[in-house]
Amino acid sequence: MKLLLVEDDIALADALAMSLRSESYAVDCVTTGAQALSALSCNDIDMLILDLGLPDMDGLEVLVKVRHQKNAIPVLILTARDGMSDKITGLDLGADDYLPKPFDMPELFARLRVMERRLGTANSALITAGNVSMDTAAHDVRVDNIQIDLSRREFMLLKALMENLGRIQSKHQLESKLYEWGDEVASNTVEVHVHNLRKKLPTDFIKTIRGVGYSINSHSTAQTA
Ligand code: CA
Repeated sequence: MKLLLVEDDIALADALAMSLRSESYAVDCVTTGAQALSALSCNDIDMLILDLGLPDMDGLEVLVKVRHQKNAIPVLILTARDGMSDKITGLDLGADDYLPKPFDMPELFARLRVMERRLGTANSALITAGNVSMDTAAHDVRVDNIQIDLSRREFMLLKALMENLGRIQSKHQLESKLYEWGDEVASNTVEVHVHNLRKKLPTDFIKTIRGVGYSINSHSTAQTA
């Protein structure tokens, strides 16, 4: 899951990005409205966290432009403004959620998980496919109810697939959810993570659709390879 964080308070942005990465999100950070619009037009961003007080334009203006482009990306507004009218305006202009500063990180994470669920096919933090279960809130993955250890990227990749049961995710889609601007990404990186994940999951759990991408085979309940 790739987030775009639009926040001109660098210290806050850095702290937020660090916390979000520890929750297994890929995070791209920008500090102005113009950068946000340019990032949204040329990158695969899944969700937007938008501060309202930006140096070049009001965050609400960014939101209006995004919705004018028929971009339905989930948007969470983050702001020090506590006026009820700003909140109502933001929601009316097409924001999905609104969190006044200061806020607790667990609350931000929970709200992001709600927005995420609207994007995919999962309807709770607990996703089950065959004999594999994933608790996206607790970062807990089990096969036959036995916890398995995944690296951060393996978790991110499996989460992207499990949140979209019945849908094929292309290699490019998966790559963009795992990596941020400036990350060195080898051309076979998704294949390598899939290869490593397959060793920890039931045989045939991750299906390869040649030339298209990957999906979860939720009928696969065989033993781990
Ligand atoms: Ca600000």
